[in-house]
Amino acid sequence: MAVSLSPNSLPGGSPLPNPPPQAGEGAMVKGACSDLRDAGSLCESHIRPKIRIATCSLAGCFGCHMSLLDIDEKLLDLLELVEFNRSPLTDIKHCGPCDVGIVEGGVCNAENVHVLKEFRKHCKVLVAMGACAITGGLPAMRNNIDLWDCFQEVYLYEGGLEGGQIPNDPELPLPFDKVHPIYEVVKVDYFLPGCPPSADAIWHFLTELLAGREPGVTGKQLHFD
Ligand code: SF4
Repeated sequence: MAVSLSPNSLPGGSPLPNPPPQAGEGAMVKGACSDLRDAGSLCESHIRPKIRIATCSLAGCFGCHMSLLDIDEKLLDLLELVEFNRSPLTDIKHCGPCDVGIVEGGVCNAENVHVLKEFRKHCKVLVAMGACAITGGLPAMRNNIDLWDCFQEVYLYEGGLEGGQIPNDPELPLPFDKVHPIYEVVKVDYFLPGCPPSADAIWHFLTELLAGREPGVTGKQLHFD
């Protein structure tokens, strides 16, 4: 059975704590995938501009990016269709105008909010990739613990620490007391579930999207470690 990746149907049917709007600005971008087909290069990759993809990582572990790289040799096929803007593959730090933006990780500090809003501004279609971006994921396990207690445990009391100190450099981004899913900060067009999503699921998702079809993943492609 295929799982819809629209914002209104998260895997497992669990209701969103703060569901995005059903219509209008916050709803899934209707026709987003056909816009991509029109804008891009599926059939004429050497004549029309390639579809531009960017990725960024917020509060995550980079496992989702590793899964993207796990597409292995199909990455070469993908590069026939797309070019990467900001991503660990290119080491470009600031996102330019893009067709598809893929976000790994949730929002745990003020810098994440800044990066995410800038990223959203530059991307026509935004994809939340993986459990951390969709729900807060593993980093959100600290949401039930007082932030100060958390800091003390990690920086002062953790076994093996000597002379620990809670970082207090004013240059450090302001941490939030909770880790948030990205849809609480920006509009999200698609959710790609998994921890991490399997390479197969990412490949399937991207090729469907680039072909102008509404992407979905089957049960076999869902992957949670
Ligand atoms: S969803 Fe899983 S693999 Fe992806 S960043 Fe979060 S913890 Fe890592």
